[in-house]
Amino acid sequence: MKHVFGPVPSRRLGRSLGIDPVPLKTCNYSCIYCQLGRTKPLTNKRKAFFSVSAMLAEAATALDRHGSDFIDWITFVGSGETTLFSRLGSLIRFVKTMSGLPVAVITNGSLLHLPEVRTELSAADAVLPSLDAGTDTMYAKINRPHADFSFEQNVDGLVEFRKEYTGKLWVEVMLLSGVNDTPDALWDIAAVLDRVEPDEIHISTPTRPPAEEWVEVPSRESLERASSIFGGVARVLEPVEVAVETEVEEELVDAILTVVSRHPLQEIEVIRSLAHWVPGRVLETLTTLAESSKIRVIERYGKRFWCSADTQFPGQKPIGRPKPLFFARHKNTSLSA
Ligand code: SF4
Repeated sequence: MKHVFGPVPSRRLGRSLGIDPVPLKTCNYSCIYCQLGRTKPLTNKRKAFFSVSAMLAEAATALDRHGSDFIDWITFVGSGETTLFSRLGSLIRFVKTMSGLPVAVITNGSLLHLPEVRTELSAADAVLPSLDAGTDTMYAKINRPHADFSFEQNVDGLVEFRKEYTGKLWVEVMLLSGVNDTPDALWDIAAVLDRVEPDEIHISTPTRPPAEEWVEVPSRESLERASSIFGGVARVLEPVEVAVETEVEEELVDAILTVVSRHPLQEIEVIRSLAHWVPGRVLETLTTLAESSKIRVIERYGKRFWCSADTQFPGQKPIGRPKPLFFARHKNTSLSA
């Protein structure tokens, strides 16, 4: 399937069936921690990138296959910024009616200053915008937004949306060591959160390869400090194990391209996601695809991640042959980055 994936385990949404309404890396930010690499070029033009009926048809197939009892939420989560899809409001309404399931939208929140975007999102049961900075300088440093945006406009959009929106507003703060985890930076973010008054604050950490090599995961002490400064509605999100569901009838090459296109994955995670195939054959095919530039390998935090060839990460290393699986397991037994 091109737009619908999962259900996948989500740190906030249980078993989540994902719908991706934008092409890879269509975004108005270029966050330093983005797991899809740098955004080149940035775009801020809302468009109907794909047809609503094509996405609904895929969602209907997935719902038939898995059954709505097995799915907790339908989540719009893009390979970029979801609200750049100009027919998002209709899509949310159709999906809700068709499935009878709650719908969540993950967004960077940049377009909430637009009344039409706030109206479209009002149909969702939960909206999960990001807020990683409490000042314009930090906003520019972390999110590297399109030239159309200012920090104040971003905050005003969040505040306006909160006033109008009756669903669940869960703001996500990505914490980055030495960048926004100092006491001053945390108090700046807390001041903005006080204005927004979200229902919950989710503190997350990079679990996939960040766009920039120098981005570091914060310490447990930093996470606890953030949680205490942000107050009672804040909680730290713990990483979950990743296994992306694939279709049995798919060819191995297509299955690999599908799983790594949305989530850069470690070798062991790719193998878990492709449990229908022999692991040795999966590793061989991964390497062949990388050697022919159909996928890429990126190293971060001492781990190798396989990702789409269309991503742009600085510091990419040449690909080598895969290590035997028993060695890979020995070297890195953790499935969550
Ligand atoms: S993390 Fe999200 S908002 Fe930031 S660049 Fe990546 S896709 Fe865009």
